[in-house]
Amino acid sequence: MDDCIFCKIVKGEIPSFKIYEDDEVYSFLSIGPANFGHTLVIPKRHSESALSMTPDELGELSKRINIIAKGVKVGSSAQGVNISFNCGKAAGQEVFHTHAHIIPRLENDELTNWPEKTYAEGEAEEFAKKIRESL
Ligand code: 5GP
Ligand code: ZN
Repeated sequence: MDDCIFCKIVKGEIPSFKIYEDDEVYSFLSIGPANFGHTLVIPKRHSESALSMTPDELGELSKRINIIAKGVKVGSSAQGVNISFNCGKAAGQEVFHTHAHIIPRLENDELTNWPEKTYAEGEAEEFAKKIRESL
C-alpha cells in the first residue's frame, strides 16, 4: 500500500535497523522500544492485521517469529520475551500493516502485563460457549 509506513520500510523508502529478511518476511527494530531490542516481524505483502491473514500465511510468519525471538532473547541478554500481535485500534494497534512484537523482558524490569479480572458465577461458561460457537 502506497501510504503504509511498513510497506515503505520493506521497500527501503524509510530506513530501519534490519534484523532479518527473506522473500516473504522483514524484521527490524521498533522505533519506540518497550525495552531495548524490541523487534517487529512483518509479512512483506501488506495485510491489515494478523486476523486478515490466512492460517497458512500466519503459519509462515510464525516460523520466522520463532527463530527471530530466540535471537532477540540471546542478543538482548534478556531472560524472557513477550510475543504479541495488536489486532485493531481497540487492542492498541497503531500501524495497520500486520506486525508481531518481540519484546525482550528482564527480571524486575518496569513493564507490567495486563491486569486480570475475575469471572462472575456462570460467566466463564457463557464466554467459552459463545467463543466456541464463533470458531
Ligand atoms: P502497534 O501499536 O501498531 O502494535 O505497534 C506499532 C509499532 O511500530 C510500535 O512498536 C512503534 O514504535 C513502531 N513504529 C511506528 N512507526 C515506526 C517507524 O517508522 N519505524 C520503526 N522502526 N518502527 C515504527
Ligand atoms: Zn503495508
